[in-house]
Amino acid sequence: MQLVFWGTRGSLPMNTPNHRLFGGNTSCIGVHEGDDMVVFDGGSGLIHLGSEMMQGDRTDIDICFSHFHSDHICGLPFFKPLFDSAFSVRLHSFGTNDATLSEAMGSYLSSPIFPIGLDDFKANIEFVEHDADARVTIGALNVSACAIPHPGGAHALKAASEKSFVYATDTEHDPQGVNQSLIDFMRGADMAVYDCTYDDGEFDTRRGWGHSTWQEGVRLALAAQVGQFGIFHHEPERSDDMLLAIEAQAQDMMPQSFVTRDYMRIEL
Ligand SMILES: [Zn+2]
Ligand SMILES: [Zn+2]
Repeated sequence: MQLVFWGTRGSLPMNTPNHRLFGGNTSCIGVHEGDDMVVFDGGSGLIHLGSEMMQGDRTDIDICFSHFHSDHICGLPFFKPLFDSAFSVRLHSFGTNDATLSEAMGSYLSSPIFPIGLDDFKANIEFVEHDADARVTIGALNVSACAIPHPGGAHALKAASEKSFVYATDTEHDPQGVNQSLIDFMRGADMAVYDCTYDDGEFDTRRGWGHSTWQEGVRLALAAQVGQFGIFHHEPERSDDMLLAIEAQAQDMMPQSFVTRDYMRIEL
């Protein structure tokens, strides 16, 4: 299994001299098993996957969404395969959220927010809604979901073949107790990434915003005994230096942890 991190930032794309090392594209990860691929979320990082796909032979793609906040869908209207009738694009969502993906995309891509609408895409687009407990087979990859607390609803996603990768963003933890269903979902995964927008010191003043901390991510990863833990969904103003410092502290708690960065490719 190979992972390509097209976007690792949370909430807002960023680009400053202090965002060179880790990047500023929002959430988008490609999971590959041989020639098969599933993409988790369509944040601004999706643009770069689209450019790469226009150079290759693949004409169909499956994108699974954790939820439909703008930082997770904003790459879609700039995803070049959508403007080419040779492509088939399946957009998957799981469980119930405040709206369906087609409703959310329909309102995002409408006046006065955006100049083009869903009807302007040329690709064959399919919205595929799955039950929360569905097991979806995409080539050699099996995808499943786990509901996690986040305003409007969100789901952690897992891709499994011989290896397994858990994508758990966006979610707010409860300091009074652990999220046991998420620990069970992550248990034994070769790698997990988690919503590490804040640190524990900032968390109290950001309750109700729907996000968690890198320390909580490490605690979950240790409890679930995951092989490697990736700090993900970085707060927009986290600089390279701040993220390097977080990485060093996280590795003191769990040596197999690291801060995810844009364009990173990892073989599991
Ligand atoms: Zn987000
Ligand atoms: Zn969100």
